[in-house]
Amino acid sequence: MENFDICVIGGGPAGYVAALKSALNGMKIAVIEKDKLGGTCLNRGCIPTKVLYSKAKFLNSLKSGVSGFHIDKYNYNYEDIINYKDEVVSTLVSGVGKLLKARNVSVFNGAAFIVSAPDKKNNISGVIKIVIKSQENNNNNNNNNNKELEISASNIIVATGSSPAMIPAFHIDHNNIITSDEILNIKSIPKDIAIIGAGVIGCEFANIFNEFGSKVTMLELLPAILSTEDKEISKFTNKILASKDIEIRTSIEVDNISAGGKGAIVSLKTGEKIEAEKVLVSIGRILNTNNLGLKEIGVELDSKGKIKTDVHNETNIAGIYACGDIIDGPMLAHKASYDGIIASENIAGRKREKNYSVLPWSIYVNPPIGTIGLKEGDKELESIKYRVGRFSYGANGMALAMEEKEGFLKVLTEDETGKIIGATGIGADMPELIAEITAIMHFNGNIKDAEFTIHSHPTLSEIVPEAVLDSIGEAIHKYNPRMFKK
Ligand SMILES: Cc1cc2nc3c(=O)[nH]c(=O)nc-3n(C[C@H](O)[C@H](O)[C@H](O)COP(=O)(O)OP(=O)(O)OC[C@H]3O[C@@H](n4cnc5c(N)ncnc54)[C@H](O)[C@@H]3O)c2cc1C
Repeated sequence: MENFDICVIGGGPAGYVAALKSALNGMKIAVIEKDKLGGTCLNRGCIPTKVLYSKAKFLNSLKSGVSGFHIDKYNYNYEDIINYKDEVVSTLVSGVGKLLKARNVSVFNGAAFIVSAPDKKNNISGVIKIVIKSQENNNNNNNNNNKELEISASNIIVATGSSPAMIPAFHIDHNNIITSDEILNIKSIPKDIAIIGAGVIGCEFANIFNEFGSKVTMLELLPAILSTEDKEISKFTNKILASKDIEIRTSIEVDNISAGGKGAIVSLKTGEKIEAEKVLVSIGRILNTNNLGLKEIGVELDSKGKIKTDVHNETNIAGIYACGDIIDGPMLAHKASYDGIIASENIAGRKREKNYSVLPWSIYVNPPIGTIGLKEGDKELESIKYRVGRFSYGANGMALAMEEKEGFLKVLTEDETGKIIGATGIGADMPELIAEITAIMHFNGNIKDAEFTIHSHPTLSEIVPEAVLDSIGEAIHKYNPRMFKK
């Protein structure tokens, strides 16, 4: 049986990054992936959605026009857009494969099952079984010809990710009642689409399909869309989406969904029925932690079913680590990769502790949203004296030049120290602006650090120091009546 220093289960952004990093650390690595390298992120998440997002954004600028241009005719072929999306995905997926190969990582294409845990005290490796589907079985579901093989490893990193949540009453048929996995591959734009759930994934698809001409209805159980975001951002986004004729219905409970009518029928608890050609169910994600042998070897899970890990991403069993969507923290690709690096570094003997307090995220509606650190409404702020600064795109030269005057950035600074403790905003390239604040926060920076960082002019990034300085009433390009009261 071939022995490895590390066996990584799952080739998504948590697993493949852990493998690449560990290979750089000089270890002998195996990656077991049952589907495609790149995981959800590259194949059916971040990347394909952002290809569609950027095409939808381009279409929006053609439709709404820019000053001085008169565009009489334009056309698009959605199938070509999907083909382009597939090209991008396959370029990135094969790139991951090439990188792993170049670092001598052994990649096994099969489903992994942990037979036994490593025994660190006695220096005994764990054993992992790999079930490799035969080509024949892919077509006829007959499991008899599956090949099995076993490898052993001194350490195991579990990075099996998550899948779309499904409720039996929603009768997902993968045809007209679909999840985010299938919607990325439909070849034509539906006339109408009902989206169940107005979280990040629901709102991103609402924006995309609305731009491409679908009549979009969003149905959300909670009283607001993007309910975990800053309230002002949630309201602002609601206003923008509603202004594009997306029908947003909040505090609405869906009872069941069935095939029929134009394609599918959504029955609400009130008895009302909504028909649509397609229904997208985006109500959250479930964790891929079953059928892995975790329970059998005694790996502890928390009350939400996530694998419990310590600050080194090690589980309760020495030598077994877990990373990405299946552990605590937000379900984000960059967080998954960070987890992978933490595990890899600790296995290499460099004690690194994870810290999610400076962890940015983005939401790609048009214009996009970016957030980092604390935001108004967070419990942690109850014990902190802080100030809020804001600056709007309408007062930034580059934003006006780009005709991107919609949006604002809001920054929180600590009263006593001037430290930047959080920021959120919506506007063109907001995720890139948030990257700068992330760097300042990573280095524990304060208002003066933002002020004396010289920003190239004209850029959207000039919004950053202005919003930060506004928290103490000192933004340069903003009239602040408080300062001139005397
Ligand atoms: C529509 C959508 C859009 C998204 N957009 C963004 C975004 O813009 N930005 C962002 O940060 N995040 C985004 N995400 C979230 C992001 O994709 C995930 O957080 C990220 O992929 C998690 O990485 P992971 O490695 O933990 O898991 P995954 O990417 O899910 O990878 C896990 C891998 O493990 C494999 N696997 C599972 N079980 C086994 C087994 N038994 N044996 C072998 N292999 C196994 C799976 O096949 C999979 O390839 C999006 C998600 C979705 C669904």
